[in-house]
Parts: sequence; structure tokens; C-alpha cells
Amino acid sequence: MTLPPCLVDTHCHLEPQYFPNGADEVVARAETSGVRGLVVIGVGEDLSPARDAVALAARMPRVGAAVGVHPHDALTWTQALHDELASLAAKPEVVAIGEIGLDYHYERSPRDAQRAVFVRLVALAKTLGKPIVIHTREAAADTLDVLEAEGARDVGGVIHCFSEDKAFATRALDLGFDLSFSGIVTFKNARSVQEVAEWAPIDRILVETDSPYLAPVPLRGKPCEPAYIVHTARRVAELRGTTLEAVAAATTANAERRFRMAFVG
Ligand SMILES: [Zn+2]
Ligand SMILES: [Zn+2]
Repeated sequence: MTLPPCLVDTHCHLEPQYFPNGADEVVARAETSGVRGLVVIGVGEDLSPARDAVALAARMPRVGAAVGVHPHDALTWTQALHDELASLAAKPEVVAIGEIGLDYHYERSPRDAQRAVFVRLVALAKTLGKPIVIHTREAAADTLDVLEAEGARDVGGVIHCFSEDKAFATRALDLGFDLSFSGIVTFKNARSVQEVAEWAPIDRILVETDSPYLAPVPLRGKPCEPAYIVHTARRVAELRGTTLEAVAAATTANAERRFRMAFVG
């Protein structure tokens, strides 16, 4: 039997609303499929997803947590929430601040509120010296402008669920941000994302599921979970004309370096 590849899912949401039987069995299924590490994102209308992500990471050695305020929830930000978030974020099991950023597609919070919260959380990441996980949708120019103006380069991070073009990728890489590919890279109509996956430096790419969303082909349309990451990594390998094992080794090493965490071993 060939061993499954050793992959890190750098972005998943495992809250009970998505996985009512709990995160443990999701992590167990992922491990059987060759997933050796996970970064669990804790964002929501309040801090309970952040607290859950931190508790899971504290319990499981190959799980890291990222905590933040999603741009959708910018209107729920208060100073009191920020203070508790800051103390959660300082814990050693929190490997990144995120996901934070701008979402002008859904615009569930007004753009001004999104930008204000984004700026505050970039500052928090810099205070703590932790990398940033960026969510950006139909807000490319403003996202890059905030990262530049607020000196996000000092800590760098990840553009999660990369769905922009080569020009955006070039600026993001220059700002110290790696590119994380989700199931989108397996979709037929995602040519510009595929071009970036072909071209980006091998030491600057990551893979993620963004579970429970965006299940990769051939599982598209199903609820996604970290066990499916192998399909995304395989597609990235095909696009680059290399092997799944090579992409697994590179993206896992990149994840360990970016999140300063040992997922393997
Ligand atoms: Zn996102
Ligand atoms: Zn997410």
C-alpha cells in the first residue's frame, strides 16, 4: 500500500454548525487521508468560534488556530470583543490572525466598517508578531492598499482561497504574502487562478479546503472537509507538471515556515 501524501490544510472551519458530530472525527478522517496538519479558523458573529478553535488547537498537537474578525462581521466589532480577541490571539496555539480583510461582494458590513476593523487587526498581528490570513473578495485594490499602508509586510501572511489574477499575486508576494489555493483551482472555469498556480514560486504556495465550502472536483457541491485537500494538491501538481508528492512536500514545508509550527513528526 502506498502511503497517502503528507499535506497541511491551511484553512478550514470546523464549527458545530457545519460538523454537528464534532471536530474530532473530521480531524481523524483527514489524518487517514494523509492530512498531517490543519489550521482551524475561528471567526463568527461572536468569539465562540475563536474560543473553540483555540481549545481544539490546545488539545491537538498538529492543529493550529487562527482568530480574527471576518469582514462579514465587521459591524459586530466592539472594543470589548477586541480586548478578548487580543488575549486569545496571544496564546501559543494561535498561529495567525485571521481571517481578516475585505468582502465587497456580499458587503454584509459597510465598507468603511470593514476597513476600520481590518486596520485594527493588522495592527494586532504586528503587535503580536504573528502572520495574517487574508480574505479578499471583489476588493483587490483596497486590500492591497491597506496591507501596504499598515505595514503588513512586517509580519506577512497568506492570501487565503486565492481567486485573483497574476497582477494581484505579484503585489501580494512582494508584500510577503503566500498564496493559498482552494478547491477553486480544480474548477474548469478558473483559468486565471490556474495560471497563478502554474506560475507562482513553489516556496510561496499553500493548499486549503476552506471547509465546509468549495469542495474540489470530483466532490464539488458536497460539504467540504479537510480530507478532500488531496484533490486540490493533485490539481496544483498537474498544472505545474510535477508530482503530488512534490507539491505535498513543498506546501507542507511552506506551511510550517509560515505558521512557525511543526505539523509533521
Ligand atoms: Zn474567506
Ligand atoms: Zn474561511
